Amino acid sequence: MIHYKSNEEIELIRQSSLIVAKALAEVAKVIGPGVTTLSLDKVAEDYIRSQSAEPAFKGYRGFPFSLCVSVNAEVVHGMPGSYILKEGDIVSVDCGAKKNGFYGDSAYTFAIGEVKPEVKKLMKVTKESLYKGIEKAMSGLRIGDISAAVQNHAELNGYGVVRELVGHGLGRNLHEDPEVPNYGKKGSGPKMKEGMVIAIEPMINLGKKNVKQGKDGWTIIATDGLPSAHFEHTIAIKAQGKADILTSFEFVEAVLKEQKIVID
Ligand code: MG
Ligand code: MG
Repeated sequence: MIHYKSNEEIELIRQSSLIVAKALAEVAKVIGPGVTTLSLDKVAEDYIRSQSAEPAFKGYRGFPFSLCVSVNAEVVHGMPGSYILKEGDIVSVDCGAKKNGFYGDSAYTFAIGEVKPEVKKLMKVTKESLYKGIEKAMSGLRIGDISAAVQNHAELNGYGVVRELVGHGLGRNLHEDPEVPNYGKKGSGPKMKEGMVIAIEPMINLGKKNVKQGKDGWTIIATDGLPSAHFEHTIAIKAQGKADILTSFEFVEAVLKEQKIVID
């Protein structure tokens, strides 16, 4: 069942979404070679709690951390830990926060130092595919229009589109209906209408689309071992025109720009 949100509820989701956006910016300030993925988790959790919010992922189905940190061939749901980031890695950092009973959810893939040109391109195209999807997130269109836009852009560039994990509705719950796959047919799926709030989150592999679950029971990994990228926004469908993006990469990218490492 899809829960449609009032304008007041959307403003509360925006508050949580902006906390997530700024938590990711705090991560951007410290992420780099020599840093453990666990230290990023603490930075995000401290920021979220400083805003009188709760880390959404901590305790979710027993997940013990505030961030999912997925390095290189890890696609999503990576567990922060003792791994020390090194030059050439790419890292998906996925963050959620809950405040006033409502969730926000966003992810950004960071490059650690210089990464190979083909990996940089994967990151760029994955982010572009997110925005191609958002362009189709409009009242009257269908979820499959988003899915097809994401898939087409990724596949035109020769990449594998992960099937097993999808975007989702959110609001009072971190995951609600509808599912928002990153693959599918134009004109298929639920019709979008005002008040629908969804997270669109392409997970795109440099190689083949196939994934497997890691031994920790959480981490999803590209089976061929090639890098994977992941970008996510929480958005609200408007009565007319383009969706309202409730999360933001503006804060992360301001930090990266200062460090002269912004992609595109
Ligand atoms: Mg997320
Ligand atoms: Mg999500």
